Parts: sequence; structure tokens; C-alpha cells
Amino acid sequence: MTSSSTSSSRFPRISTYGVPTRCWCGEGITTFGSSTAENQYRRFHRCEIAKGRKSENHLFKWIDEALINEMRMVNAKHERVAQGLTNFEKRVMEKVKSEIARIEHEVSQKLKEKVKLEIARVEKEMKQKLKIATVAMVVVGAIVGIWNSLTV
Ligand SMILES: [Zn+2]
Repeated sequence: MTSSSTSSSRFPRISTYGVPTRCWCGEGITTFGSSTAENQYRRFHRCEIAKGRKSENHLFKWIDEALINEMRMVNAKHERVAQGLTNFEKRVMEKVKSEIARIEHEVSQKLKEKVKLEIARVEKEMKQKLKIATVAMVVVGAIVGIWNSLTV
């Protein structure tokens, strides 16, 4: 490859998205003002080395474009964060709902069992009392019978 610098563009361009901090060559980025007629005073990012070596493909970025890129990135990030939050909220709400449903089910199940047990206990108790009452009535009946036979 020959390094004939017959490029039609005044600046060989390597562009990045957003505000650059360092050129590919390792040099930090400085801002310059354009002196071309079509971009008079327009500011751009470039490394110091590129100034002296016009034929090399150092990083070039218009500051206004870089700032617009940054704003877009911030907006996109903001949207992602907002979306992430919405998704997180949704997941939390779903989890809370399912947890409530689970607890309700568990409680009603336990309550049912408890009620069943209580009914069984009361039934048993009633039967017991009924038995005692029956026995008592029989005993009272017998006593009354004996009493009657004695007093006649
Ligand atoms: Zn450079």
C-alpha cells in the first residue's frame, strides 16, 4: 500500500459514537476550531498528534455531533432504566400477588382442617354428653322407679 495522501476530505475520519476521550493512537482528545469555509469556527475533537500528521487516520468528531450522540445515549439509557423499573415493578407485583394467593390458599386450607377437627371434636363431645345424659336419665328413671315402688 502506498501512503499517498490524496484524500478528498481534509480530515481522514475515524469516528466514534458520543464524546470521545482518547484517540486510537493513545493520545488524549483536545478540541479545535475548524477553519474551513463550510465549517468556520465549528468545534471538533481531535488528538494533538493528528494536527501534525494530516495523512494519518486519527479520531475526528464534531463536538455538536458528539453532544447529540451523548444526549441520545443518555435518553436511551434513561428509557432502558425506566423500562427496567417498570419490568421490575411488574415482577414484584406478580410475586406479591402469587404470594398472597398462596397464603390465602394455605390459610383457607388450614382453616378448613381446623374447622373439620373442631366439628369432629364437638361431635365427639356431644355424643359423650348425650351418652352421659342417657345414662343419667336411665339412672334417674331407675331411682324414680325404685322410689315409686317404695312409696306405694
Ligand atoms: Zn490520535
